[in-house]
Amino acid sequence: MINDIATLLLALLLCHALLLTHLLSVRRTVLGRRPEIRLLLLASLAMSCGDLLMMLRGQLPGPFWLVLSNSVIAAGARLMSVSARCLLVGRGLCRIDLTCWLAGSVGMMVLVALKLPYSWIVSWVSLWLTLLLLPALLLLMHHGRRSERALRMVLGGCVICLLSTLTRAVEPHLAAQEPVSLLQPASPLSGWLFLAMTFGAFSIQFGLLMASFERSAAQLEQMATTDGLTGCLNRGATRALVGHEIERSRREQRPLALVLLDLDHFKRINDDHGHAAGDAVLQGFAQAVRSRLRQSDIFGRMGGEEFCVVLPSTDRAGAHEVVDALRREIERMTVTPPGGAGRLRVTVSAGTVVFDPLVERLTPSADQLFARADVLLYRAKHAGRNQVQTSGWVSLTPV
Ligand code: GH3
Ligand code: MG
Ligand code: MG
Repeated sequence: MINDIATLLLALLLCHALLLTHLLSVRRTVLGRRPEIRLLLLASLAMSCGDLLMMLRGQLPGPFWLVLSNSVIAAGARLMSVSARCLLVGRGLCRIDLTCWLAGSVGMMVLVALKLPYSWIVSWVSLWLTLLLLPALLLLMHHGRRSERALRMVLGGCVICLLSTLTRAVEPHLAAQEPVSLLQPASPLSGWLFLAMTFGAFSIQFGLLMASFERSAAQLEQMATTDGLTGCLNRGATRALVGHEIERSRREQRPLALVLLDLDHFKRINDDHGHAAGDAVLQGFAQAVRSRLRQSDIFGRMGGEEFCVVLPSTDRAGAHEVVDALRREIERMTVTPPGGAGRLRVTVSAGTVVFDPLVERLTPSADQLFARADVLLYRAKHAGRNQVQTSGWVSLTPV
C-alpha cells in the first residue's frame, strides 16, 4: 500500500481539498481575515493544484507537466513557510520568496532541457523544497518557544518534511535501478518518504491553522477584558475580580481595600487642549499608577476618567498610605500631549474603603463596596479635591 503512490496522491488531494474548503468557509470571519490564514489558503490552493497535476502527469506526460507540477507544489511549500513567518514576525510575501521559487523553477527547466536522468531532477526538486521550507524551521526554532503551543506541531512538521526531502535528494542515486517517474519509484523507500513528506506538510498546515486560531482567541479575550486606551482591565473584568477578592479576603481572614480614583477637573483638559491631550493624560495616569502597584493588585478603568484599584491583604492605614502616595505622584506628574503643546498637570481624588474580616462581621457584596467607595470619593471632591478619603467598611468615618 505504501508503494502505491497513485493512491497516496489521491488521498493527499482529498485532504488538501478538505482543508481548502475549510479555509474558504472561514474566509470572511475574524480568523479568515488574518494574513497568515490568507497565505495558508493560497498554500493549500497551490498544494491541491499541485496534487492534481501530479496525478494527471500519468495521462499528460512530458517535461512541461513535470516542471509545472513541481513548481506549483514548490509555490505551496514556500507559501506555507511565509505563513509561518507572517505569524511569527509579521512579515508577509516579499521579493526574495518569489526569487527563491523562480530560481528553483528555472533550474528545473534547465535540467529537463539538458535531458539529465530523472534521479537528478528528483534531487534538484528535493533540495529546492528543503531551501523553501528551511526559513520557517529556523524562525520556529528562534521564536517558536515564546509563541502559540500549536507551533510545536508546525516545527515537528518542518523537521519531518526537511528530513524526508533531504533523504529523497540522495535516495534515487543509491537505488539499484534508475527511477522513471514519481508513480514508478525505484525503491520502496520512495513511498515511505512520500508519506513522510505528506504527513509533515499536513502537520505544518494544521499547526498553522491552530496557532492562528489560538492567537485570535487570545486577542479576543484580551479585547473583552482590557480597556483599549489605557491597557487597564475594563469595568466588567474589574467588577468580576472584586467579587472574587472579597470572597478570598473572607476565607483567608485578610483585609481588602477598594479604591475609586477620579481625575479632577478632567473636562477642562479636554476643553482647553483637545480630546487627544485628554487621552494622553489618561494613558500617563494609568502608566504612573500601574508602575506603583504590586503584581497582585487589580487596576481597572470604570469609565471615563474614573479608575478602580483593589489592594488585597492591605489594612486601612496601609491602604491610605499607598493611595496618598499615588495621589502625590500624580500631582508631580507632567504629561506632554501629542504635538508637544506644553506640559499638562492633573490631580486625582480618591475614596478608599477597607473591609477587614477580623474587625467586621458583615461581608459586603462588590456593589456595596463600590457604593461606599463612591461616597468617600464624593466627599474627597467636596472637601476640595486632590485628596484621599479612607474608611472601614462599616464605619464611614473618614481618616
Ligand atoms: P471632577 O473634578 O468633578 O471629576 O470634574 P471632571 O471634569 O473631571 O468630571 P466630569 O464628569 O465633568 O468630566 C469628565 C470628562 O471626561 C468628560 C468627558 O468628556 C471626559 N472623558 C471621558 N472619557 C474620556 C476619554 O476616553 N478620553 C478623553 N479625552 N476624555 C474622556
Ligand atoms: Mg473627574
Ligand atoms: Mg468622573
